[in-house]
Amino acid sequence: MNHKIEITVEGMTCGMCATHVETALNSLSEVANVRVPDWKQGTAIVSLEASGGETLDESRVRTAIESGNNYKLTGIRAIAGETPELKSGTNTDPGPEPGPDTDIDLVVIGTGGAGMAGALEAARLGKKVIIVERGTTGGTCVNVGCVPSKAIIKAANYFHLAEHSPFAGVQLVRQSLDWEQLVAAREELVAELRGEKYEKVLQASEGITFKQGAARFVRTKSGYPAVELSTGETLLARRYLIATGAHPHIPDLPGADTVGLLDSTSALFLKQKPESMIVIGGGFIAVELAQSFSRLGVRIESIEARSTYFTFRVGFGRFGRSDPSLSRRGHSGH
Ligand SMILES: Cc1cc2nc3c(=O)[nH]c(=O)nc-3n(C[C@H](O)[C@H](O)[C@H](O)COP(=O)(O)OP(=O)(O)OC[C@H]3O[C@@H](n4cnc5c(N)ncnc54)[C@H](O)[C@@H]3O)c2cc1C
Repeated sequence: MNHKIEITVEGMTCGMCATHVETALNSLSEVANVRVPDWKQGTAIVSLEASGGETLDESRVRTAIESGNNYKLTGIRAIAGETPELKSGTNTDPGPEPGPDTDIDLVVIGTGGAGMAGALEAARLGKKVIIVERGTTGGTCVNVGCVPSKAIIKAANYFHLAEHSPFAGVQLVRQSLDWEQLVAAREELVAELRGEKYEKVLQASEGITFKQGAARFVRTKSGYPAVELSTGETLLARRYLIATGAHPHIPDLPGADTVGLLDSTSALFLKQKPESMIVIGGGFIAVELAQSFSRLGVRIESIEARSTYFTFRVGFGRFGRSDPSLSRRGHSGH
């Protein structure tokens, strides 16, 4: 028999709230399906798992709905099927699964966006988590990806607009560019965001322990997989999450090793402004960096094998777009 529960929630104000509540309830293991038919009515209809779905722990429902949100659980009642036993304030977690003898639920490898999201969600569900990092906390996005690249894009845009006013009759005077100061300010921004969004979040998260070191998998004597850190410490857990990201791919180009090849990371952190640069590839990262460097006065030649920039695959589809602004002064494409 499929048990159904109606849950009343206060504080939903739009369709997105309905999605948040559905996601929160779906995170409970005993929940098979959730529907918020109309956020204005403030109710969610929950179907419980047929197996082991005899109980619904009110305190877990409350935690799922209320933590980090402005919603309030105001009611919970059975509406169909056999009346499930509604337990109040008790924990129905079956406890540790049979397996390795450890109190660590999850070891997460990597502190980038993926690792952080996994660790925080597991901790929110009451799990004991260890997150390990071999490099700088925060991974690609904050340290060498989204944040520093968007900072340079924004700066380059201001520099560009100073000579290309979008308004007729508004003439701006472009002064000078201090590359070193620009790079220093960007490093400051990166450090600040890394501190606020990653380091402090990890420190403040109960249930998550951070460990520095490169991880590799080993097998314990009893045959269970474990993570061994470069510090020599071995971490045995019930589950492991590999969130180790990716790194720039250097294609097999004859002679590439003789020309001081840059990748996105080394290009972003050049201490001095180059006179010119050849950018190979027309994906998002190549194009945004090429355009920014071009706007900052670097002579850019772009090389892309396909006929359009931004060509990428989504499922089985293929999309591409050429941006005419890329062929403006100082930036030629091939
Ligand atoms: C220049 C650039 C600009 C970008 N701009 C955007 C953007 O505007 N918007 C956007 O959405 N995305 C952007 N991205 C992509 C985005 O940064 C990545 O998709 C995202 O950071 C991937 O997150 P992740 O957690 O999977 O991996 P990562 O952030 O790479 O994290 C992986 C972590 O695992 C650690 N690790 C690896 N191996 C081990 C090991 N053995 N032991 C311990 N730790 C290990 C690494 O040190 C790293 O810290 C950009 C990327 C680049 C390079």
